[in-house]
Amino acid sequence: MARFDGRKVLVTGAGSGIGWEMTRLFLEEGAQVIGADLDPDSLPAGAHAVRADISVEDDVARLFDTAARLFGGGADILCNNAGIGSTTDVLDATVEEWDRVFAVNVRGTFLCTKYALPHMLGQGNGVIVNTASVAGMIGLPDRASYSASKGAVIALTKQVAVQWAKQGIRCNCICPGTVDSPWVGRLLAQAGDSDTRRAQLVARQPMGRLAQPVEVAKAALYLASDDAAFVTGSEFVIDGGILAG
Ligand code: NAD
Repeated sequence: MARFDGRKVLVTGAGSGIGWEMTRLFLEEGAQVIGADLDPDSLPAGAHAVRADISVEDDVARLFDTAARLFGGGADILCNNAGIGSTTDVLDATVEEWDRVFAVNVRGTFLCTKYALPHMLGQGNGVIVNTASVAGMIGLPDRASYSASKGAVIALTKQVAVQWAKQGIRCNCICPGTVDSPWVGRLLAQAGDSDTRRAQLVARQPMGRLAQPVEVAKAALYLASDDAAFVTGSEFVIDGGILAG
């Protein structure tokens, strides 16, 4: 029997990078998966794709209506993974950029959690795994809105964990370091000389390499699984040793 046989999973940001790998692994391990994304055309085969902007409540409501219909109730496991970045400090950041980062990373996580919880509480169990970042734990240059938003995701993770621990809900977050996803490719391309920038990113890694998206996704699957039955409210760091330095 596979680890997630019969489990119903909803992954946001499932069309690329870490969320794509989460979706693929959940499917491989027996789950039914709904993957939500702004661009749902590139989800792993076998997932049910839903186009949704998680920062928009109507989209989230529609997404969870689909989950109720397809799953005959709702999701047992929610991975709040969709997120966007920014590469500005407080002086450079505009209010529009700040608000957009918070709308996706924080409001989106809040909304999906809000719509997932009633079913989980009704059945007396449920697991939420949020994708935060080491940027929410330490100060990093040029990540003002991004770091603040991921710090908020970590705080919300802990609040949800203690609020409903006795009702069978577990809520944890993963805190990746730098992951070699399409996101990092885009950031490097925007920054110009991407080979030099990549070499700088790699140079700050104790392991001398970036994480592969699948390495991060595997940590999320652990937290979602019954192997983590006594784990809630935690920040699971997958950073190849950055924070240890
Ligand atoms: P990615 O850009 O490859 O994938 C993110 C996916 O989220 C994309 O498919 C995108 O379309 C989707 N998305 C973005 N905004 C959305 C919205 N409003 N509604 C629905 N879907 C939306 O990036 P990734 O590296 O796989 O990042 C996934 C998560 O990991 C993010 O939350 C990110 O903050 C976090 N993270 C990434 C890194 C890294 O180095 N790549 C490090 C730490 C944390």
